[in-house]
Amino acid sequence: MAIQWFPGHMNKAKKELEERLGGIDVVIEMLDARLPGSSANPMIARLARGKPALKVLNKQDLADARVTEQWLQWYRKQPGTQALGLDASDAAPAQKLVAACRELAPGRGGVEKPLRVVICGIPNVGKSTLINSLMGRRIAKTGNEPGITKGQQRIMLADDIELFDTPGMLWPKIIVPQGGYNLAASGAVGRNALDEEEVVLELLLYLMKRYPAELDARYKIGDSDGLQDWQVLELIGKKRGAVLPGGRINIQKASEIVLTDFRDGNIGRISLELPEEWAAWEKAAKEH
Ligand code: GDP
Repeated sequence: MAIQWFPGHMNKAKKELEERLGGIDVVIEMLDARLPGSSANPMIARLARGKPALKVLNKQDLADARVTEQWLQWYRKQPGTQALGLDASDAAPAQKLVAACRELAPGRGGVEKPLRVVICGIPNVGKSTLINSLMGRRIAKTGNEPGITKGQQRIMLADDIELFDTPGMLWPKIIVPQGGYNLAASGAVGRNALDEEEVVLELLLYLMKRYPAELDARYKIGDSDGLQDWQVLELIGKKRGAVLPGGRINIQKASEIVLTDFRDGNIGRISLELPEEWAAWEKAAKEH
């Protein structure tokens, strides 16, 4: 696995997050709805232990709605945790966040002492997009307030709810190999971090298992049952004209086609992990 979790970055991010969480009442972690387990940053859960948590499964427009529902139920069973699905087309994300925060921290907040909420998550899950859409609301710069960094930006989600953005980069931590592949497929980790063909073969294996009809509808490869992942990739290459002089399949081009299609939602609404699958991968990784 080529992706690294650099200790220097980690310590800096950890320190900043720790400071930032001091005066915070609710911690919102934004996740990619297609891969909630893989796109979580375990450091956030660790540092925010004991605080009410809101998991926002973003980009739900790209994810399999039934699987997203399973994840929401799964999170809601955890103590002190709420969860909701979201995507950039939502006209009123603030209302949803406010309702969930009030539910998580009833009796907290008030105009005198507003409820303080922080939003965090790994890169590419859609934090900036959400914050920009919330920006239409009131923005206030912070002054000298305990637990809050001077100059930090806050958005008033409601009269008595302040939303803060987390600083710095909270890179994902690859705990399980499948998580690394799923992050790479989603575009959350750089193009060169993992071998693209390997990522695509893992993606195809999952699609062949859970979304064979969508795969066929997109690429007209027929029944892929009984085929190997690389044979499916070659078929896709052939169908899409990714062919080298001499007739060999241009695997790199075929891989790019599949990755781009997946990221753009062209294969359909796809989720790459079920809660139970994620739990099993995590368990296996811990036993190693
Ligand atoms: P950040 O790194 O967490 O701040 O993520 P960004 O807000 O920069 O979003 C990363 C990419 O995901 C951008 O290309 C966004 O346009 C896209 N994006 C953000 N939210 C959504 C969403 O709900 N649905 C889809 N399909 N794309 C989204």
